Parts: sequence; structure tokens; C-alpha cells
Amino acid sequence: MSNKLTERKKDYSKWYNELVVQADLAENSAVRGCMVIKPYGYAIWEKMQAQLDKRFKETGHQNAYFPLFVPKSLFEAEEKNAEGFAKECAVVTHYRLKTDPNDKTKLVVDPEAKLEEELVVRPTSEAIIWNTYRGWVQSYRDLPILINQWANVVRWEMRTRLFLRTTEFLWQEGHTAHATKQEALIEAEKMNDVYAEFAEEFMAIPVVKGLKSESERFAGAEETYCIEALMQDGKALQAGTSHFLGQNFAKAFDVKYASKEGKLEHVWATSWGVSTRLMGALIMTHSDDKGLVLPPKLAPNQVVIVPIYKGEEQLKEISKKANELASELRKAGISVKFDDRDTHKPGWKFAQYELQGVPLRIAIGPKDLEKGTVELARRDTLTKEFVNQTEVVEKVKGLMIEIQDTLFQKALDFRSEHTTKVDSFEEFKKVLKTKEGFILAHWDGTAETETKIKELTKATIRCIPLDADIEEGICVFSGNPSSQRVLFAKAY
Ligand code: AMP
Repeated sequence: MSNKLTERKKDYSKWYNELVVQADLAENSAVRGCMVIKPYGYAIWEKMQAQLDKRFKETGHQNAYFPLFVPKSLFEAEEKNAEGFAKECAVVTHYRLKTDPNDKTKLVVDPEAKLEEELVVRPTSEAIIWNTYRGWVQSYRDLPILINQWANVVRWEMRTRLFLRTTEFLWQEGHTAHATKQEALIEAEKMNDVYAEFAEEFMAIPVVKGLKSESERFAGAEETYCIEALMQDGKALQAGTSHFLGQNFAKAFDVKYASKEGKLEHVWATSWGVSTRLMGALIMTHSDDKGLVLPPKLAPNQVVIVPIYKGEEQLKEISKKANELASELRKAGISVKFDDRDTHKPGWKFAQYELQGVPLRIAIGPKDLEKGTVELARRDTLTKEFVNQTEVVEKVKGLMIEIQDTLFQKALDFRSEHTTKVDSFEEFKKVLKTKEGFILAHWDGTAETETKIKELTKATIRCIPLDADIEEGICVFSGNPSSQRVLFAKAY
């Protein structure tokens, strides 16, 4: 059986790493900063993908696929984007290895196989995609282009953490082209809304929708929309971003269309993405010292049935009942695993499914067979009750909704308790020392103030909230006028 997890309050970061490994979600690999996503972790990611993909298609997008490599000359074309990502790029310079003439057991790079032009492993795909769009767009009739790609990208991160920040990560990236600025702005905000709805309805994670300050903006974007979530340790996590790219990429790649009036215009662009970081958000929002807690809508197994028995005969009888129940539950659209392995004891299985966050556990023993009951245990509240076998399906259906709602509400309450309005820099620092969390404070809108606050406190502007009231005030740092409070926090 796996070891007990370090308690969250003792060492949150250790708890997180242990949980990811022990719950069988992912592990470190032979490549620094790159992880292996294990089947259980991948099954959760697939559930996320399926929901997001459905929403992208419902909003008119189609999937396509572009190359992993970007020729350096294309990568350079949009200067700000290139400059922003240059420090994190993996670059292919050769296309062949050969046997080392001094040691036949080793391979060396063949100097004769040097590429004429280096290839950048995509850290994001605007360059290769906008170079392609040039050939796809001639007239206003060719617009909009609404495309999404599911892919891996590489950003040479110096400090990595499983799921949260890895060198290679999986994501989706939407890349759209529009005839007007207005349409592109609407698209960027719409996709940020799609992310917010997904986070709240499926992941049960409340998020703040907002705009990034200039210094936190995506390299090459005119505006970055984002969703920000608060983790249990009081740190913020950027859970998704959606960029309004203006005409920057269209100009860099010469993508023009003839308008209805016959005028040649540059195309307007957006791009938007969420990554396997969402797995980290899911873990850090709901889980506890016993392990993962999954919202039913993303749990690969929503229910697990564990038989409690002595000997073959009892197992046979219990299995009959358990299989009946499992098939009734499946008919009701609930995913069920019946774990009748005789290689592990029920106590081991209980702990394992707790660790893996299965929302509901049903235990059936000989007494239950006599009484016509089962024992139902909730992972989120760790409460148990006996339920009549005839009522199990209805009960489970109701609990799936209730658990999903409870998790969201709990996370929302936590966020409310850990969101503080402050009106002075003293208060600002005090909150960061005592309870962390989100801080709503006035800011004068300058990068200079933002940088100073960051240097002094490590807190950054997570976003300029979109749904906030306009409220005149004075900047907590400089005392200069401010037109609205912005969201500060220490962040992952
Ligand atoms: P960006 O292209 O920088 O706007 O990032 C798109 C999405 O990928 C955002 O949701 C980021 O939070 C996420 N992301 C950025 N860098 C990493 C990384 N190293 N590992 C995992 N996710 C990342």
C-alpha cells in the first residue's frame, strides 16, 4: 500500500508532489522537466479534453494540425513574440547522428548533417499557423478562420513542477482570423468565457475573469484575457488565457484580404489555450490529506464497488448483486468500477480509491445481502450511510450532482474567505504575511508600480477583473489615482 501523504499544512508542495505520484497521475521522466502522464492521470485529462473539444465545436471551431517545428526565419517574423519566447526555445540544428569514431558504442552528432536553417520546436504555434493562413485568405469570404489544434509544445522552463509547469506540455491552442477588430475582440473574450464556464461547471473551480496588465501579457498580444483561480495554499494559478493579437501576426506574415469594397486589409487575430496545468489546478483546489478529490463530472470512475467477503462462495453471491447494481448504474449514465480482485484486501482498496479521489464508494458485505442494503461512502465529505439496494441508482444520481455542487461551493467559500480588499501598502503586506490569497487593491496603472510591488512582496497583478465595479480610489503604493481595484496574489 502507498505511504501516507505529508499533511498539507506541514508542506503543501511536498504534499502535492507525493499526491501526484501516489495517486498514479504522473511521474518524472528521464528528461529533466518532462513528465510521464500515467493512465489514470491521462483518463482525467481526456475527460477535460472531451468537454473542451465539445464546447469549441459548439462555438464553431474545427480541429486541425500543424508541424511541431518552426523554421527560425518564420519564428523571427513577429518580433515581440519571438523575443518573448526566445529564452525558452529548444532548437534543432542537426538531422543525423553517427557512430563515434573513437568509441563505437557511442553516437555523436554528424557535423555533415547540419540543417541549413535551424528549426525551433514550437513553444506556441502562431508563426507556423499565420504563415499557413497567408495561403488560405484572399477575400472576406475566406473569413473567419476558426481553428483549434490539440498538441504538445516545448518551453525550456528552469523551475518545473509536475503538471503545473513542465518543459513539454500538452495543450490546445485556438488560432482564429477575422475581418474586423471587433469580431476578433469578441472571439477572444468568448473563448475566455468558454474556459471560465468549463472551470466552474466541470472542474468545480471558481475563477476570476480578467485582463492581464501589460507586463504579464502574452508576447505579441495587444490584450490578454485570462481566468485566475485560487489554490488551497493561498497562491493564484493562471488557468487559461485568450489573446487578442490585433494585426500583429497578419502584418508579420502578410496576411491580407480583399474587403467587400475591394480594399486590401490586414486580418485580425486571436489565440487561446489551456494546458495540462489544469490537472494541477484540479488537484490543488479540491484534494485533502488523504489524496485526490475529483468532481464527478471529471472522474474516470464515478463509483467504485468493493466486495467485503470471506471465501469464494460469499464473493460469488456478492458479485452477482454488485454486477446487477453496476449495470443499473451504467444504464443511468454513471461510470462504475467493480473491484473484485482477490489480490488486495478491502481496507487497501478503500485507501487506494480515497487516494485516487473516486467520488463514491459502495461496499457490499454478507450483512448487506441479508438486509438488502449497501454502504455508500462520499469521498468529498468522508461520510458514510446505508442505502437500500433498490434506491441506490436514484441516490447515486442525486449525489453526483450534490458532490459537484458541494465542491464548487467549498472552493467558492474558500476564495471569499481569502479575498481581501486593502487600502494601504501596510495592509497589503500584512495580508500576504498572514493569510495570502487574493488581494483587491487600487493600482495606478503603471508598470513601474507593478514591478516595485513585485520586488517588495513577490505578489503580482493576476488580472484586472472584468466583472468588477468601477470604483475611484488611490493606488496603494504610489498614492496616484486609480479607476478600479485589480487582483494581486503570489502565483504559481
Ligand atoms: P500562453 O500561451 O503563455 O498564454 O499559455 C497558454 C496556457 O498554457 C495557459 O493556460 C498557461 O497557464 C499554460 N502554460 C504556460 N506555460 C506552461 C507550462 N510550462 N506548463 C504547463 N502549462 C503552461
